Amino acid sequence: MASATSPKPFDIAIIGGGISGLTLAIALLQHNIPLTIYESAHTFGEIGAGVAFGPNAALAMKLISPKIHDAFEKCKTANQWPSQAGSWFTARVGDARKADKDGLVREGKKVGDALFDVHFGSDRGRGGVYRAHFLDELVKEIPEGVAKFGKKLVNMSRVEDGSGDVECHFADGTKARHNAVIGCDGIKSATREWLLGKDDPAAKAVFSGKYAYRGLIPMDDAVNLLGEEVARNSQMFFGYHGHLLTFPIEKGKTMNVVAFNSCPEWKNPQWVITTSKEDMNADYASWGPHVQKIIRAMQKPDIWALFYHLPCSTFYKGRICLLGDAAHATTPHQGAGAGMCLEDSLIMSVLLKEATSLEDVERAFKAYDEVRRPRSQKNVVTSLEAGTLYDFELEGDDLDKIEPNFRGRMKWIWDIDLDEEIERAKKIYHGGAAKI
Ligand SMILES: Cc1cc2nc3c(=O)[nH]c(=O)nc-3n(C[C@H](O)[C@H](O)[C@H](O)COP(=O)(O)OP(=O)(O)OC[C@H]3O[C@@H](n4cnc5c(N)ncnc54)[C@H](O)[C@@H]3O)c2cc1C
Repeated sequence: MASATSPKPFDIAIIGGGISGLTLAIALLQHNIPLTIYESAHTFGEIGAGVAFGPNAALAMKLISPKIHDAFEKCKTANQWPSQAGSWFTARVGDARKADKDGLVREGKKVGDALFDVHFGSDRGRGGVYRAHFLDELVKEIPEGVAKFGKKLVNMSRVEDGSGDVECHFADGTKARHNAVIGCDGIKSATREWLLGKDDPAAKAVFSGKYAYRGLIPMDDAVNLLGEEVARNSQMFFGYHGHLLTFPIEKGKTMNVVAFNSCPEWKNPQWVITTSKEDMNADYASWGPHVQKIIRAMQKPDIWALFYHLPCSTFYKGRICLLGDAAHATTPHQGAGAGMCLEDSLIMSVLLKEATSLEDVERAFKAYDEVRRPRSQKNVVTSLEAGTLYDFELEGDDLDKIEPNFRGRMKWIWDIDLDEEIERAKKIYHGGAAKI
């Protein structure tokens, strides 16, 4: 039987070294599980943008490994004003078309005024990080030789010797044999396509009808444009078929911006394209002064088309399993996609820690699937809905309906009892009845 010091009698290929692949690798290595990360890029890397983690994500990091939580603590930035410390977003109307003849969007409130705050309501931790810095911290925890770069998975096959092993085929013509494969290869996952089959409508991501501009503004500039309160704390500006959000990152040195808009279809095979400043300004021409100022201050007008996965019927087949965006890529409207990746890594690592044989690996994948699929797929659905709420498409522009909906919709994500989820997963793994 494997002990804390003897390696497990199975090895794992992790495909992809993003937040999912790296956090999973750190978690599995501390349980002495032999593994190799195959990353298509020539180095680990993240885009230069912010990502926000809610209380569930912060707790998941704590439970996976102090190393991951320390990385988060090192990089995280919360709202800069102590009075706003517990606020996820301050909600405001950003779109000038909502104002009545007196210039009001609600009694006594003008375009850009603070309407209400959505509070986290728990003290588990949270915060926004600059993605590249967070990834750099995670990479430090991956020992030399564990990751192989320039390895783009293009196909897999089961080894025909009764072992159930999997052979990974890479674009450079090389192959690698492993006892099990965990696909952490993101929204365009090759593992997912192989596992579900090309003809499954859920195999490939679909366009959500929304796109986003992402940008970073030096905090001093943001303060000059918007004032201290707006610039230094998280804001959400609602509008017609679009919304804009900001939050501080890099210990308050930078304001992260994501500005959303809508279009009926996405024909370009590229999902990130460069547009012109004029086109970006035109998208927000009818919006109020706060949003216009933010948009004008954004230097690099890249558009990100927002895609998501339709629900699939399983996250695993045999000893091949999906994790993170490869399993449940979502729109970002609840800021919970990466948090779900961390929860996945937690549950997967807890289960594989229990495993002592190849058969156990498949049982672990089964239990992981049962626990993680409903919750992560619910996030995909409710996130799509949240986007329509902020864009005046779900409750129209009725702020009296939008407010309770916005206030109430994140509780099930943030307040999850992860210890209970771990126990539930272990129970399924050990053959007990699942508690739903
Ligand atoms: C605009 C936007 C804003 C967001 N904001 C937030 C937020 O605030 N909070 C939040 O929680 N989430 C947010 N998300 C979601 C979050 O970014 C993702 O859920 C998370 O980054 C997914 O991580 P991942 O490691 O699963 O996938 P990825 O980050 O996509 O990593 C996949 C890795 O696999 C590699 N790879 C891909 N294909 C192959 C292959 N065939 N072979 C080998 N390697 C391969 C890639 O190079 C990459 O390194 C946002 C998403 C978007 C689009």
